[in-house]
Amino acid sequence: MRQMYAALGVSETVYDYGERVLKELEERFRKVDAVAEYNQAKVIAAMQKNRVNAACFAATTGYGYDDVGRDNLERVYADTFHTEAALVRPQITCGTHALTVALSANLLPGDELLSPVGSPYDTLEEVIGIRESKCSLKEYGVTYRQADLKPDGTFDYDAIRAAVNERTKLATIQRSKGYATRPTFSVEQIGELIAFLKSIKPDIICMVDNCYGEFVETIEPSDVGADMVVGSLIKNPGGGLAPIGGYICGKKECVERCAYRLSAPGLGQEVGANLGLMPAFYQGFFLAPTVVASALKGAIFAANLYERLGFRVVPNGSEPRYDIIQAVELGSREGMIAFCKGIQSAAPVDSFADPMPWAMPGYEDEVIMAAGAFVQGSSIELSADGPIRPPYAVYFQGGLTWYHAKLGILLSLQKMVEAGLARLPENA
Ligand SMILES: *Cc1c(COP(=O)(O)O)cnc(C)c1O
Repeated sequence: MRQMYAALGVSETVYDYGERVLKELEERFRKVDAVAEYNQAKVIAAMQKNRVNAACFAATTGYGYDDVGRDNLERVYADTFHTEAALVRPQITCGTHALTVALSANLLPGDELLSPVGSPYDTLEEVIGIRESKCSLKEYGVTYRQADLKPDGTFDYDAIRAAVNERTKLATIQRSKGYATRPTFSVEQIGELIAFLKSIKPDIICMVDNCYGEFVETIEPSDVGADMVVGSLIKNPGGGLAPIGGYICGKKECVERCAYRLSAPGLGQEVGANLGLMPAFYQGFFLAPTVVASALKGAIFAANLYERLGFRVVPNGSEPRYDIIQAVELGSREGMIAFCKGIQSAAPVDSFADPMPWAMPGYEDEVIMAAGAFVQGSSIELSADGPIRPPYAVYFQGGLTWYHAKLGILLSLQKMVEAGLARLPENA
């Protein structure tokens, strides 16, 4: 094994240090596997109930009328998330698009959108109109209000109560921290927030941005009262096989409006050819629970590996996990470059590329990204990125297999050690 890792560029000392860290993670990994086992059964049960068969994998074109595979996949998603309805489509281009469809379908002029969990994900700022944009919700007469989290990252119930008014129509709740420093919320915490919102205003629509959270726990936000859960198929639920797509699961009334918004009033879910993507969608969803487990093991390994070397990691090595993202504060520009070079050099695709900090549209600071993915931008595949600014944190996520995640993390440390930016303990 050591020889194989050496051939890939991991020295014996780095490998041995990694093995020592891993020894102490056996119990954590067992728990991750138990969640995956439960979720695997949940997905298989939904597929069996809906009698998935070869006819579901046929390609359709044009209008896509009577698309058996597409319609059945939506029932499989609805049964897995325990919702009345689901919209799962390759015509939804990404997570931001899925969220935009869900918001713009369910908010009308004069309505107000509330974020009770502080600022939303970056790309939603233009969708909402926090940053001016053509076609924002703001331009269509939908106003926005936000209740910030308390300094310790918990819900500010007084501020939320004060923010709800007669125009508050929909609350958007982001499960994952995304690229912010706040904690990720557990499904249970989200359930408490939804119950609170509904106690103030029973008809408020609660939508959860479920990106990076699917299958991390045995329950989903739709099990604790969410009216809609929304996410991207090039993250967790696509299992690495979906080459595009998004989903919205929820109440029939809400999802139907989303379908009317995505296609056209009157057409809704009836149109939308699957373009031959059904095998990837079904098989990816089938694999998703174990793929998420691999990514989680990678995140836990990285946290513990770097924490012991004195780096700050969020979440820390022992905290429970509610999404697949791991932040590692490397303390310098050089550290970020070395870390990303390691991740890149472990990739099955583009391993020869050299990630460099670069100016990116929409970002104030330079950004560095490492990704060697089969699907462009897929962040369920092993990837790392971050803005070049203090505390020089790299956000690391994904890994279709645990062994690939492990190799990437060991190589990141290898590059750090070679650059003199990390020192291995004598007997950690
Ligand atoms: C990734 C992500 C999005 C946006 O998804 P894209 O596919 O990048 O458009 C929205 N919210 C959260 C929390 C995310 O992690």
